[in-house]
Amino acid sequence: MATPYTPHAVEAAQAPHTAAGAAADTAFRSALDVVAGVEPRIAAAIGQELEDQRASLKLIASENYASPAVLLAMGNWLSDKYAEGTAGRRFYAGCRNVDTVETIAAEHARALFGADHAYVQPHSGIDANLTAFWAVLSQRVESPALERAKVRGVNDLTEQDWAQLRQSLGNQRMLGMSLDAGGHLTHGFRPNISGKMFDQRSYGTDPATGLIDYDALRETAREFRPLILVAGYSAYPRLVDFRRMREIADEVGATLMVDMAHFAGLVAGKVLTGDHDPVQHAQIVTTTTHKSLRGPRGGMVLCDTELAEHVDRGCPLVLGGPLSHVMAAKAVAFAEARRPEFQTYAHAVVDNARALAEGLLRRGGRLVTGGTDNHLVLADVSGYGLTGRQAEAALLDSGVVTNRNSVPQDPNGAWYTSGVRLGTPALTTRGLGTAEMDEIAALIDTVLRATTPTTTAGGAPSKAQYRLDDAVRDGVAKRATDLLAPFPLYPGVDLT
Ligand SMILES: *Cc1c(COP(=O)(O)O)cnc(C)c1O
Repeated sequence: MATPYTPHAVEAAQAPHTAAGAAADTAFRSALDVVAGVEPRIAAAIGQELEDQRASLKLIASENYASPAVLLAMGNWLSDKYAEGTAGRRFYAGCRNVDTVETIAAEHARALFGADHAYVQPHSGIDANLTAFWAVLSQRVESPALERAKVRGVNDLTEQDWAQLRQSLGNQRMLGMSLDAGGHLTHGFRPNISGKMFDQRSYGTDPATGLIDYDALRETAREFRPLILVAGYSAYPRLVDFRRMREIADEVGATLMVDMAHFAGLVAGKVLTGDHDPVQHAQIVTTTTHKSLRGPRGGMVLCDTELAEHVDRGCPLVLGGPLSHVMAAKAVAFAEARRPEFQTYAHAVVDNARALAEGLLRRGGRLVTGGTDNHLVLADVSGYGLTGRQAEAALLDSGVVTNRNSVPQDPNGAWYTSGVRLGTPALTTRGLGTAEMDEIAALIDTVLRATTPTTTAGGAPSKAQYRLDDAVRDGVAKRATDLLAPFPLYPGVDLT
């Protein structure tokens, strides 16, 4: 029996971050009191995390702030239940409430994205991708080794098993975007399992423009003839033409898979429509639920009807028991994302990214592709004489949280890098707008101008060490705090 909502909870759910209010305060405070009764240091760390998140300008493009309703849906006894299988077909008894939760989450997901089928069990984006890869293999390839893997699970396979499996699968090929150009390690990067399962090749971006070169991609696809063409990214600041991607996939007999982990919120919020809506064009779409989509930490697979039975075998092939409490929170997040306010939010995320990009460009910053069409900006900091690592650290010292990221053909490699990735989903949730983004661009520019690499013993500039003017650091940190003051995070929640 569902407990009826109190008016406070309804209000909190409708305006999740501006009116979190008294109900959320009571709930979080009580929860932490109970935790503190057993291990006070953990309760303290949870409370401190809220203070830390409140105090900093969070520009990590893959992070967000979930609503109190989403967070609270996770902290309960659904966590105690085993429910391997799918709704109505479980390997455990007593799953009727998990069935309800999973069914509602999948209904919301199908409606939100216009998908034939939704599988809401993957625990993370990586799990969703693994589920999707094996679904396509099992739909399209006959292999005794695959049948064995389905029974035993892939975790037990040795290197030799992998080689045999790859061979028995006909050395199937995957074509994905290179890590260097903004792709993800699960799109065929060698050390990742995706690079072990498939004979892999990658496509990059045009060195002159930084944009995906669809003609070059088509040529590679025609020559390589992949089973799976993977689109999607973690660090590409522009739109992707998924209609064109599907044409290329169809021409070479590939299944088009789109990993929308980063931009699912922009699809849900109807910013990415038509040619830019992956769900309309790809046979299979994977996502995380915790990035721009603003749900709990987790994953999901959407697919055409023909793939549904294969996707639903994610458990037991690569997943164990579903996280029922997280599926409940996914359902809550999808319900929030179906509201008109979420579309307003998603459009504001993009407006904010554009304002941030313009603010940086106006101050002489260099951006990969010269700007942005989505929620992220990739700034090339080599013009300031810094590596990405130095820029990331100097900004963090000043209360601005970003992450270093390689730029295409990065001379500093994947560890030091030459860029920082900046994203607007989190600060937009907090309520910041384009005027604040311009101010943030000024803060970033101020810090980077005041940062210089130290010199190594040999006289060369260090790639890691730097000097940042103390007065600039403190001044920017103060301005960051002032900037955030009118936009409280989880207002009304006071754990002190
Ligand atoms: C973040 C991300 C993932 C991985 O998500 P996890 O939940 O961290 O496993 C997968 N693909 C892309 C494109 C991502 O950006």
